[in-house]
Amino acid sequence: MKQLNVMIAGAGLGGLVAAASLLRRGHKVRIFEQAARLGEVGAGVQQSANSAKVLYSLGLRDALERVSVKPQSYEFRRYDTGELMHAIPFAAAHERAHGAPYYHIHRADLHSMLVDCVLALDPNCITLNARVTGFTETDQQVSVNLADGSSVSGDLLIGADGIRSAIRAQIVGETSVNYTGYVAWRLTVPRERLPVDIMDIVGQVWCGPKNHCVLYWLRGGEIFNFVGCPERQAWEDESWTQSRPWEELKADYAGWHPKIQAILDAVDRDQCYRWALNNRAPVRNWSTARTTLLGDAAHPTLPFLAQGACIAIEDGAVLARALEGSANVRDALALYQRNRVDRTARVVNESTEHGGLYHIVDADEMRAAFHQRNIAKERAEWLYNYDPLTVPLG
Ligand SMILES: Cc1cc2nc3c(=O)[nH]c(=O)nc-3n(C[C@H](O)[C@H](O)[C@H](O)COP(=O)(O)OP(=O)(O)OC[C@H]3O[C@@H](n4cnc5c(N)ncnc54)[C@H](O)[C@@H]3O)c2cc1C
Repeated sequence: MKQLNVMIAGAGLGGLVAAASLLRRGHKVRIFEQAARLGEVGAGVQQSANSAKVLYSLGLRDALERVSVKPQSYEFRRYDTGELMHAIPFAAAHERAHGAPYYHIHRADLHSMLVDCVLALDPNCITLNARVTGFTETDQQVSVNLADGSSVSGDLLIGADGIRSAIRAQIVGETSVNYTGYVAWRLTVPRERLPVDIMDIVGQVWCGPKNHCVLYWLRGGEIFNFVGCPERQAWEDESWTQSRPWEELKADYAGWHPKIQAILDAVDRDQCYRWALNNRAPVRNWSTARTTLLGDAAHPTLPFLAQGACIAIEDGAVLARALEGSANVRDALALYQRNRVDRTARVVNESTEHGGLYHIVDADEMRAAFHQRNIAKERAEWLYNYDPLTVPLG
């Protein structure tokens, strides 16, 4: 298709990948980001081969290798005894099977390499302090409306404005938000504060009654990342930056293995963040003739498969390919959506389901459930093997 004027709401991981993919194909791109400065929260994010391949295609392989950790495997352990119930081989096995490694990376590092990538392609691409409130569309063009009362017109608008997307609200309508009953703690701890034998270069999910936590290393093993997901009845804020009393964190993990206690005892007590995990049912139509969604704006998902950012990144790559192969924007958006709806809904639904598996109360029942499901095999067969750069679009 001819060169398009593309507008993107949101400079998160998804919006930046879409921007870079489109700039590299010769389109003009402007991102409108509500924040006053670019950045990400101080936590980790896991990237499997299905998204790493897209990052490679943007020239980010060396940058990824420099700042990330490549875990040997992903271990699922019982919360009190530490018994290994299941493992997914990563490192060479993941790369051999799926064409790229599995990475653990600091969100700020991934975000800043994507910002650098976009700005190298167009230094004026990103406008900060630009909150998008909605859009107006005709057959010929789409205008994005900004909070300062101005509007900007172009050929295509992409809503990559996250879980509370203003663009989604206009396309899909206000979808009800269901509190899942899960909250998420996020913490990081410098390596030197932890016992030397705390954990190899692996990822671990410790699973217990109505609670689990995910552990992995960041920045070459300098920083330890902890995400804890206990069940809690009361609804809480969805913000990522809400700090909570350390004593509540300790209480949530009372009775857990001494290694978990050692991690919680080493954290800065005023740096324990907790927020609510909400669910929205997947929708099947997130596009109009000239406007579409990607990432959390299109398909917010629980973090239990560690795939929300991966599928946001996949979206950007597939959308760029759909535009390339179509005669006009309407056809391209239909092609993009048609090819993303089932896969992303599966990620959303299976993520929700995995919460149940990780939280089984009885030890024997949990052991049997892991054995029976064999999630290493499952994920290899449908999740990690997807290649957004080559999957046939039909
Ligand atoms: C605890 C936890 C752990 C996770 N772990 C993983 C993991 O290991 N691997 C993984 O792949 N995923 C993980 N995820 C999911 C992942 O974080 C998200 O799916 C991903 O960040 C979505 O990216 P996005 O670009 O769609 O949205 P966001 O990252 O939310 O970016 C949206 C951007 O839009 C901006 N914005 C919002 N509204 C407006 C507006 N009105 N106007 C202009 N700008 C706006 C925001 O400021 C932001 O910059 C995890 C999530 C949680 C909660």
